[in-house]
Amino acid sequence: MDWKHWRRRWLSDPLFRMAQKAMPRLSVTEQEAIQAGDVWWDAELFSGCPDWQRFMAIPPARLSDEEQSFIEGPVAQLCAMIDDWDISWNRYDLPPDVWSFLKEHGFFGMIIPKQYGGLGFSAYAHSEVVRRISVQSVTVAVTVMVPNSLGPGELLLQFGTRAQRDYWLPRLASGQEIPCFGLTSAEAGSDAAAMTDTGIICRREVDGVEQLGILLNWRKRYITLSPVATVLGLAFKLYDPDHLVGKRTDLGISVALVPTSLPGISIGRRHLPAMQAFQNGPNEGHDVFVPLDALIGGIERAGQGWVMLMSALAAGRGISLPSLAAAACVFSAHTAGAYARVRRQFGVPIGKFEGIQEKLGRMAANAYLVDAARRFTCAGLDMGHKPSVVSAIMKLHATERMRQSVNDAMDIHAGKAVIDGPANYLGGLYRALPVGITVEGANIVTRNLIVFGQGAIRAHPYLMTELRALADPDREAGQDAFDSIIWKHVGHSTKTLLRALGHAWTGALFARAPRNVGRSAAFYRRITRYAAAFAVLSEMTVLTLGGSLKRREMLSARLGDILAELYLLSAMLKRWHEEGQHEPDLPLVKVCAFQGFSTIEKRIDDIVHNFPVRWLGRVLRLLILPGFTRVRPPTDAALAAGAQILLEPSEARERLVGAVWSHCTGKAVEELELAFDRVVKAQPLMDSIRQSGVKDWRVAHAKGAISDSQAQVLEEAEQAVTQVIQVDDFAPDAFART
Ligand SMILES: Cc1cc2nc3c(=O)[nH]c(=O)nc-3n(C[C@H](O)[C@H](O)[C@H](O)COP(=O)(O)OP(=O)(O)OC[C@H]3O[C@@H](n4cnc5c(N)ncnc54)[C@H](O)[C@@H]3O)c2cc1C
Repeated sequence: MDWKHWRRRWLSDPLFRMAQKAMPRLSVTEQEAIQAGDVWWDAELFSGCPDWQRFMAIPPARLSDEEQSFIEGPVAQLCAMIDDWDISWNRYDLPPDVWSFLKEHGFFGMIIPKQYGGLGFSAYAHSEVVRRISVQSVTVAVTVMVPNSLGPGELLLQFGTRAQRDYWLPRLASGQEIPCFGLTSAEAGSDAAAMTDTGIICRREVDGVEQLGILLNWRKRYITLSPVATVLGLAFKLYDPDHLVGKRTDLGISVALVPTSLPGISIGRRHLPAMQAFQNGPNEGHDVFVPLDALIGGIERAGQGWVMLMSALAAGRGISLPSLAAAACVFSAHTAGAYARVRRQFGVPIGKFEGIQEKLGRMAANAYLVDAARRFTCAGLDMGHKPSVVSAIMKLHATERMRQSVNDAMDIHAGKAVIDGPANYLGGLYRALPVGITVEGANIVTRNLIVFGQGAIRAHPYLMTELRALADPDREAGQDAFDSIIWKHVGHSTKTLLRALGHAWTGALFARAPRNVGRSAAFYRRITRYAAAFAVLSEMTVLTLGGSLKRREMLSARLGDILAELYLLSAMLKRWHEEGQHEPDLPLVKVCAFQGFSTIEKRIDDIVHNFPVRWLGRVLRLLILPGFTRVRPPTDAALAAGAQILLEPSEARERLVGAVWSHCTGKAVEELELAFDRVVKAQPLMDSIRQSGVKDWRVAHAKGAISDSQAQVLEEAEQAVTQVIQVDDFAPDAFART
């Protein structure tokens, strides 16, 4: 017997049998969800040894001239038309001229190629548009987002038949048809596959002619744009009890395009989601008959609905909410920094207090990191990837950081942000937080089940192939495939373990980093170190828990957090590099890096502490997290330096919070910016007056210590600040309902 046969008989086959018992058995829906989309930089991180050369070769996301003109033209015009207070509190809807403008300028067809009349924008341009509108109005941003994200447009592009694309895409691009997408129902929220909505294949007489079609019954809720939609992308379970199209009775989840004007459909009622005025509501259909070719992709795609949805989500989830969240992080940092500079208490600007600086430092770093990750993800999408794990990371972590930043900004503004009215520029974002957290996969489920649960299998270099081999109905073929891969896997794991050990015990001194990255090289080395540690931990967790990993959600969530931090930190370093490694931005890089690294170490610590095999947990801690190379969270000085960027005008501040503003802020933010400029301009004068021992500039003016023109500068600054610190009040009968 030669070595290969011996290995197969005595090692591979017994391992195959053991693995078959231990490994997770995936339902068809789970398999389809895992296989949707593709892998990208996440797979490099998962390998435990990211290829930095490949990383540096990823081109930055850029706008074409045409995309730039769109942002400077129609987007700026749109922003100028928006009055979010009027939309949210008077109309509960966009004004008719805004609806028309959106349709006329193709905002609903950003992802639709030009050949169908769409704008054919890159992911980055799409993201930039959403980002700019988001700071003006969440309601308008969501209205624009939905037709360009998961929904009829994306599904038709990926899976529609030619005839369907030719018919629907031009109508969607021009806004002639308003789409919505109905997946969620009362019974089926996070577990969308549990839907009770049905379609039965049958024959019906329509206009005197017998037709083969589908009889639909559904009750959906929470559907964005539903109240105004003219076409519904409907997910339902398809059955063929009379075997009219094949032998199977239960065909599975399918997706059809249903015109909302058909008899039997009730649509138009509205929900009020967190006091946001975007159109959202339930809809239902009773015995609604559609022809078979209403199925997206035709009868060949019957039953493939789940994989179609997951695949469409793999791209869209990486753009819409991350762009809104990136804008929210930048907006919070910008306004809180300016407000902290102009608002005085105890005789000094509140930005001088360490308690405020701690929050500002964190907000500045969040703004830097989330926008970096948004740009990096768009670069990946524009390279043609549909990275499902990356887009889940982005949706989860961008919206969680948005929650943190907006809450911090609320705390800094205090009463100014609590009192609602046109002068409050944060209230709308604050109320919208739970919407971002809940939609496109609620965050708890995304963190605890999806990121690592999917990533462990999808992005791992060997696991997916092994699982396929284990599930192969042809046992012999399965064992062959398993034998050919498992030893590569063992070799890879051994190398990774040695690498993780070496990096951990040398403080990542010899870990890989790209060239020409200046002072950030040490940060790259640390990422390499933690990637190796993460690869070891994930191998050990999958090996120890096998199929029960699905139930150990807390472990899975922590592993997912490590992968996410590695991804976000890579993106952050990429931004620092692409922007030219500006020294003044270094405090932001440091706060992000030390925050991320300490989170990673905390998660590793918690994983090994809760490891199912206690002694193995202790061994793993010793190997990959020795006490003497631990990092600490950002220092107080680093946080204060980050905060300082938001408190002083500078190029670093411009890079961090400047780019989103042109034309896209309301009157209240313009007033804040004016006050900030005037206070900064008046500062040297104020300082010299105080140094002369006079507290009030009016006294200095009366004494002739300052000139009239200097007094005017101070007066104007004071007036601007007085305007900013105002809040709205209303007549007693303003809230009366007649
Ligand atoms: C404003 C708004 C707009 C929406 N737009 C649309 C739309 O256009 N189309 C559409 O089809 N749907 C839409 N949705 C639905 C949205 O996708 C669902 O709300 C979401 O999937 C969660 O479902 P649920 O609210 O029923 O929560 P549930 O599923 O009841 O979940 C409750 C909580 O349990 C957690 N949870 C559930 N399962 C697990 C688990 N296994 N492990 C750990 N935690 C778990 C969830 O994370 C959540 O925190 C929208 C929802 C809202 C609020």
